[in-house]
Amino acid sequence: MEANNTTSSLHSPCAACKILRRRCSDKCALAPYFPPTEILKFSVAHRVFGASNIIKFLQEIPESQRADAVSSLVYEANTRLRDPVYGSAGIIFQLQKQVSEMQSQLARAKAELAAVQAQHENLAAIVCMKAWSLPNDSEEYSPYIFQGDHSSSVNDYCQASNMWEDSLWT
Ligand SMILES: [Zn+2]
Repeated sequence: MEANNTTSSLHSPCAACKILRRRCSDKCALAPYFPPTEILKFSVAHRVFGASNIIKFLQEIPESQRADAVSSLVYEANTRLRDPVYGSAGIIFQLQKQVSEMQSQLARAKAELAAVQAQHENLAAIVCMKAWSLPNDSEEYSPYIFQGDHSSSVNDYCQASNMWEDSLWT
């Protein structure tokens, strides 16, 4: 018993009791969620919601959910101080706006890509026509054949349309 008393008298008050200038008992409802080192966390939540509301709110929900509830409460309090009108809803609106901006950017990029691909196909068709119209081994001195990664796809394309091109150009 004596050891317990010594421990409780030595135990430093939780952040809530420190700010509220009250004695922190072993049964303090706020101590598990606002340890002595987290003064700012409690002071922000206290400024926005008030200590008695926080205690009432925590008592209404199951103990297993209280830690999560405190984190969202503190998060909401922080955003409420930054944006008193919308709080975290303001951040959600901003993010939703960003998402729709990104989606339209993506749609524009996809449209541009489709246009470039169509252009590339047209160009490849022209290259093939030029290539097949040259005498001998056209691949060696045709300036129109692409180098690197593109060459194989252009060659494939040219080979695929070889028959058609031959009938057209011979
Ligand atoms: Zn306390």
